[in-house]
Amino acid sequence: MPAIPPASGLEPTQPAPGSSPQAAQARSQPLSLPTPGDPSLALIPAARQDINTLEDQTRYSIALNIDPSLRSFQGGARVEYTNQEDVTLDEIYFRLLPNGHKSYGNGSLKVSEVLLNGEVAPTELSLQDTVLKVKLPESLPPGESAEIELAFEGEVPVDFGGQSEPAGYGIYNLSQDVLALSGWYPILAVYDDQGWNLDPISEIGDSVYSDTALYSVRVCASDELALAATGRSIAEQTSDGTTCTQLESGPTRDFFLIASPSFQVDSQQVDGVTVNAYSLPGHASASRQALKIAADSLRIYNQKFGPYPYAELDMVDAPMRNALGVEYPGVFLVGDTLYDEPDEAGFAITIAHEAAHQWWYGVVGNDVFDSPWLDEGLATYSSSLYYEFDRSPEFVNSLFDFWQQRYDRLKKEGKDDQITAGLEYFEDQGASSVYGTVVYIKAALFFRALRQEIGDEAFFTALQRYYQEHKYGVATPTDLLNAFEEAAGKSLEAFYNQWLYTPER
Ligand SMILES: [Zn+2]
Repeated sequence: MPAIPPASGLEPTQPAPGSSPQAAQARSQPLSLPTPGDPSLALIPAARQDINTLEDQTRYSIALNIDPSLRSFQGGARVEYTNQEDVTLDEIYFRLLPNGHKSYGNGSLKVSEVLLNGEVAPTELSLQDTVLKVKLPESLPPGESAEIELAFEGEVPVDFGGQSEPAGYGIYNLSQDVLALSGWYPILAVYDDQGWNLDPISEIGDSVYSDTALYSVRVCASDELALAATGRSIAEQTSDGTTCTQLESGPTRDFFLIASPSFQVDSQQVDGVTVNAYSLPGHASASRQALKIAADSLRIYNQKFGPYPYAELDMVDAPMRNALGVEYPGVFLVGDTLYDEPDEAGFAITIAHEAAHQWWYGVVGNDVFDSPWLDEGLATYSSSLYYEFDRSPEFVNSLFDFWQQRYDRLKKEGKDDQITAGLEYFEDQGASSVYGTVVYIKAALFFRALRQEIGDEAFFTALQRYYQEHKYGVATPTDLLNAFEEAAGKSLEAFYNQWLYTPER
């Protein structure tokens, strides 16, 4: 890999606080890391007290320099981690997601050095370099903290890697002057009742399973770029053609960013949230339509599920393949080709679906490898609520007719399957259409039937409680299914068995 020159106009390099002198020497070009700001600035005023209820959140302080070519970047991160599990840990795992290729395309993310509490730490890469194990010289009991510093650099695929395989979604990619950076920093793996979750990157669905954390990120890049990112910009400084932007995320389970010199931005306020629509040249009118759909979706979901807590939501027109849209905390992408036909139902459904992921995946997390239906099924069903409350009953009926037909076709082909199966199971089936039809559409039909079974009041009460109780956490299918039973005041076991676990073949 060629050496990557630092972007011009940066602060003088200096060892991060806490580094040992040897370590500072070993690191060739350490980036000075941002001082964490006030995370509550990323939240709407009514949600700011949420920060006080979250104890021991991991804190990421990250500096990112984007090369002027937009093909590579260099970064440094300090991760303040507290063991929130009830077991003592002997190692900590990070994921270097782009190295798994598949949905990330054929780029790379390399970690050049890892310090633990200021000392060089022994590390080990595995699973196609997507797993970075940091061995702890002394075990970390519950409640104890460790500080990990990492230097890293990445190369992004250009135009989805051209003809070469794998062609990613465009989430870690440079195309049409749009640089999308998903998985660009080492992200902590999740430790749960299965131990450390170190799933291989999947060809289908989303491959980020993570806990919420507080991110302070400073991005330095050409001042010609417009930047959309998780969280909110709290300071900006430009010199010699380079703009450094500091962002605070509030409690989010990832930090995504996307930049382009071509973006135009339209904005609208909804319930105290700024909704920004970033669009590419030629899409100004479609983007204004998109902004209205996103704003209306946000308003409806705020009423039906509970308030979106962040001060900003960015919707971005982006070159994509093999996916119509992708969600990240505070940001979602909508494939650029959809903007060519903004009156097609697919445009509004995609926007309403990705917006709903802010509730299902973003605020309430789930294990996207084991239970992708939890967020995908809810997001798909939620998009029908946008139609129900913004358009008319005929629209909703035609949407469900369309979904029913797709599901019926799958059944006819003998391919009906369990809604609750994991991502790997569907990936092994080969056809992503089975995954889409079962995990998105059949699950949406399940939620519609469930609402008819228990009534509107119990249905929405359950969703509101589920949202409130698992805010910033990770929920399981049992959490959701129990919430409906509690709100309905009856067992739904037979109903669940029929819909969730008994495929019709
Ligand atoms: Zn989705």
